[in-house]
Amino acid sequence: MKYITKYKSPNYNSRKNSKIQLIIIHYTALKDTSEALSYLCKKEKKVSSHYLISQNGTVYNLVEDKFRAWHAGQAFWQEISDINSISIGIELDYNPNGKNNKFSVKMIKSLKKLIFKLQNSYKINKNSILAHSDIAPFRKKDPGINFPWQSLSSSKLILKIKKLKKIEIKIMEKWFNSHNLKSKKQKIILSLSLIGYDTREVYINYKFYNKLISAYRIRHLNGADKIKNKSIYIELIQHLFNYMLTKN
Ligand SMILES: [Zn+2]
Repeated sequence: MKYITKYKSPNYNSRKNSKIQLIIIHYTALKDTSEALSYLCKKEKKVSSHYLISQNGTVYNLVEDKFRAWHAGQAFWQEISDINSISIGIELDYNPNGKNNKFSVKMIKSLKKLIFKLQNSYKINKNSILAHSDIAPFRKKDPGINFPWQSLSSSKLILKIKKLKKIEIKIMEKWFNSHNLKSKKQKIILSLSLIGYDTREVYINYKFYNKLISAYRIRHLNGADKIKNKSIYIELIQHLFNYMLTKN
């Protein structure tokens, strides 16, 4: 893995003693690595990320881990809205509408190595490797529908969600009922919220609800289920159950 430190972004500030807890994956939606480097290192753009990974797998370190890079924007996870202070941002040189519209093998290999290294350095939980679309589902789509989450889970970098036995589904149902949650929609919203998603607005605006469901589907479902209008109910209670077992 080629590792380059000579490009530096001026767009950062202090973490003010916040602990690094999350890794956020982005795509640049720019033409290529050189355009991304100039964008992320330009003062007027007021954005940055700790890392940029090129199509050929080169890793550029633009902001030191100890500083607060500006990649998340308005975001929310687990009741925290200042995500920049608690995260490491990784940009991928990828544009869904450009020539760089593939997550290359070399890029993903470097990404995995980097995530592995960061997870060990900062003791980052497997539940805490997130998409930009997880922490900002109402405005962001990256890293998008084609990002190989499956490959990250096969490499044991992120939580592998195990299917539940019938008895375990019953336990979850019982638990929901004991909290007086009757409709599937209520159960879905509570599950999303416990996992970490921003559900503050979804009760009052169905457009927000639909966007959140779509963000979840793209991130966590496979194949045709990603886009099909299929309910995420079963996947979500499986996710919540697995999440509760592996929280710490
Ligand atoms: Zn992003």
